[in-house]
Amino acid sequence: MRILVIGNGGREHALAWKLAESEKVKKVYCAPGNGGTETGNPKIENLPELKVEDIYSQIIWANTKKPDLVVVGPEVPLVYGVENQFRKSGIPVFGPSKEAAQMEGSKAFSKDFMKRHNIPTAAYENFTDFEKAKEYLNSINHNVVIKASGLAAGKGVIIPQNKEEAIAAIKEIMEDKVFGSAGNEVVIEEYLEGDELSILSFCDGYTIKSLPPAQDHKRIFDGDQGPNTGGMGCYAPTRVASKSVLDHVHKTILQPTIDGLRKEKLPFRGCLFTGLMMTKDGPKVLEYNVRFGDPETQTVLPLISKDTDLAEVMLACANGCLDAVDIKIDNKFAATVVVAAGGYPGSYKKGDEITIDKDSLAEGTHIFHAGTTSKDGKIVTAGGRVIAATATADTLEEAVKKAYEGVDKIKFDGMFFRKDIAHRAFRASPAAAQSLTYA
Ligand code: AMP
Repeated sequence: MRILVIGNGGREHALAWKLAESEKVKKVYCAPGNGGTETGNPKIENLPELKVEDIYSQIIWANTKKPDLVVVGPEVPLVYGVENQFRKSGIPVFGPSKEAAQMEGSKAFSKDFMKRHNIPTAAYENFTDFEKAKEYLNSINHNVVIKASGLAAGKGVIIPQNKEEAIAAIKEIMEDKVFGSAGNEVVIEEYLEGDELSILSFCDGYTIKSLPPAQDHKRIFDGDQGPNTGGMGCYAPTRVASKSVLDHVHKTILQPTIDGLRKEKLPFRGCLFTGLMMTKDGPKVLEYNVRFGDPETQTVLPLISKDTDLAEVMLACANGCLDAVDIKIDNKFAATVVVAAGGYPGSYKKGDEITIDKDSLAEGTHIFHAGTTSKDGKIVTAGGRVIAATATADTLEEAVKKAYEGVDKIKFDGMFFRKDIAHRAFRASPAAAQSLTYA
């Protein structure tokens, strides 16, 4: 098989690495890829001229090169309809159609979808009119979360502390257009409390098979302080979700989601990312994404057993026969620590040389590049979240320790990372938490 992976982040590096492990895969092309995808693995090749959102050039390339499968990493090309275009050319795609991608492209759409299919989620109202939204806020007395409905690069969710802040937020989104047209519609929803987790699931339109639940760390600083980021680290499986909780989630949320989409003639083929809040009234959906998460992907893909072929699983999703494929998961834990450029998520420098002492990495440790590129034979920084170390082990404690040892092998000017990845897993056990301290 020859596979085209669209994207240039850590998620796509992990996908390319796992796909290249397959004996059936001859070549993985990354469009455009990053400094890690093109080094060290002869099966992986970057196509730097094919930018993530340049669907037109990708199709021209694919019509000549005829890949056996296209795997779409980021949400923007999916929401723009990249799947529809490739399918027209007869090329199987792992990723939903433009219509099904509305589950991420429009939060208002996904909330209405959940209501239609009785999928548990926070109570909400959608608004396109600022005055009506303001009137609604003035009429209620519970804490709310304000969401720009459209794609806002992960920034469109505001959690106001009081009514004045809530009204200021809808004004910024709907009138001042701080998120552009993403704010033409807003969702105002009930604030939920609980532990969060993310589930990545393979779907073929009928069948849904999930990977172990993961917990991301969105804030930049230790102790979940400071501004939100794209994700500073992750671990899986989380202890928040026992087997029986996961079975309940599958029955009441995941399968009804896939069945509901199919019944609405939007069969979902690809990765469904379900963000959940484990509330005292049970699990509720916070959001859907229509693609793999970052850094969840870097964390959970290494937990897939070596004898499960990711290329086969993805092709089965694209072709509607996932029920025939077994996805085996190792009985292990994984942790990912993201290393960012100093200043991120504010302004940061690019072009600093990165050195990695790969030879001394422990077995079961992976370095996944994100914001890197190669220049004059060197790897240099090219983004805010630069690179990550992921490790697997028999215990979560060991996986976290190994991931930090992996970070120790990475060096560049101004590098910054959180020192408390997985802290929520250890909070009930101070002794275990102590063993996490990064020296
Ligand atoms: P979303 O993109 O909708 O998942 O929102 C981003 C983040 O905002 C989530 O990961 C939660 O931490 C938080 N969030 C979203 N919706 C709610 C809610 N209804 N209650 C509490 N926190 C929320």
